[in-house]
Amino acid sequence: MHEPDVDVLIVGGGMVGASLALALADSPLRLALVEAVPPRAAGQPCYDERSTALAPTSRRVFQALGCWESIAVGAAPITEIHVSDQGHFGMARLAAASEGLDALGHVAPNRVLGRALHERLAGQANLQQFCPARVTGLEDLGDRVRAAIAADQRLDTVTTRLVVAADGTRSPVREQLGLGVRETDYGQVGIIANVTPERDPQGRAFERFTRQGPLALLPLPGGHASLVWTVTGPDSERLMALNDAAFLRALQDAFGYRLGRLLRIGRRASYPLNLVRSRARRKGRVVVVGNAAHTLHPVAGQGFNLALRDVAQLAEHLHGAAVRAEDPGAARLLDAYLAARAPDYRRVVGFTDGLVRLFSNRLPGVTLGRNLGLCALGLMPGLRRRLMQQAMGRSGPLPRLARGLPLAVEGVRQHG
Ligand SMILES: Cc1cc2nc3c(=O)[nH]c(=O)nc-3n(C[C@H](O)[C@H](O)[C@H](O)COP(=O)(O)OP(=O)(O)OC[C@H]3O[C@@H](n4cnc5c(N)ncnc54)[C@H](O)[C@@H]3O)c2cc1C
Repeated sequence: MHEPDVDVLIVGGGMVGASLALALADSPLRLALVEAVPPRAAGQPCYDERSTALAPTSRRVFQALGCWESIAVGAAPITEIHVSDQGHFGMARLAAASEGLDALGHVAPNRVLGRALHERLAGQANLQQFCPARVTGLEDLGDRVRAAIAADQRLDTVTTRLVVAADGTRSPVREQLGLGVRETDYGQVGIIANVTPERDPQGRAFERFTRQGPLALLPLPGGHASLVWTVTGPDSERLMALNDAAFLRALQDAFGYRLGRLLRIGRRASYPLNLVRSRARRKGRVVVVGNAAHTLHPVAGQGFNLALRDVAQLAEHLHGAAVRAEDPGAARLLDAYLAARAPDYRRVVGFTDGLVRLFSNRLPGVTLGRNLGLCALGLMPGLRRRLMQQAMGRSGPLPRLARGLPLAVEGVRQHG
């Protein structure tokens, strides 16, 4: 066996790739991370205008990785979720206190998450970073993979036992491998922006089913709120073309006055919303993770949370292999990782897809069923708890990091 330059090469330093690099900080593995866009640049997804609702499992992963404190200072806890349907009777309220929790989740601006992750990566001893740089080709050499990395005027090659493709929805690595995708076009667009309402949301998150589509307003620190409004393509064009005052009027009309008047809105951005699933998640010594493996509709705020549990499980398998001096790119190891993640993956994709179809539908029978469902949620604690467990990422066995435990098992200390 030839000695490769590194053990694991991560393509893509978005929130998922960066989290994996950090999760492996304490392992004996030699890592390389290649990211096309420099930190803090406008096109870097870690630094865009979006916010991410983090489930308690994600909070525990970040706690175990030692970066939760720097995230928490810029994040807002969700203490209550208020679900309603514009123009209908159904309404449900899910409260952290009645579940014996301090928070149902936290909302962190992507900028805060990106900064917390990249600051920690900067001092990581077992990590070599290539940024801005792109992986432009992969060659399978049997016992390792040779990656071509293009940066400005340079072309480097790096050999590795394992490639982890965390390179986003249109994953160039997945394309090169010819893995193919299953794609469901919901015909919807997500409009996102930060909004300042008259009244501080104070931990309340709102999910409202409007004539145009589901609208979420999530609490942010400083009395602000993060908007994700799912609308059809033509509605998105019309709403994006409005000036701020006219957009705020349309939003106020759809959302109502639960937070008083909506006073200000920041820069708007729009994202096409599809369900994109890679047909396979491994080929040879390459695995795909994050948006490259599964891009979900944001209606239930599950995409990153699911990906972070994948990262936690993959890190656990890789760490175990490193401690046993095994090949981190071995098919058996990677297939065991994928098998461990399959039930959670199936549940979350099914749950999210079901919610999109249920809540985007305006047929009278469906609207009535949905409203009865919302009332039932209020009345039936068992049903409510099951839905909450799912939304909070807790329905199934969890990897160590997602339980807040370090990767290293007691007595097996590595590194240095
Ligand atoms: C409107 C909206 C709201 C959302 N809200 C939530 C939420 O509340 N909760 C939640 O859990 N999820 C949410 N999500 C989903 C979440 O944003 C994604 O799961 C997450 O961003 C996926 O990150 P990623 O790192 O896999 O991909 P990306 O963020 O796309 O990162 C991919 C990275 O790879 C780099 N790259 C690409 N090609 C190459 C190459 N050849 N070489 C080197 N680098 C390369 C890119 O520059 C990029 O930095 C939301 C999504 C949207 C659209």
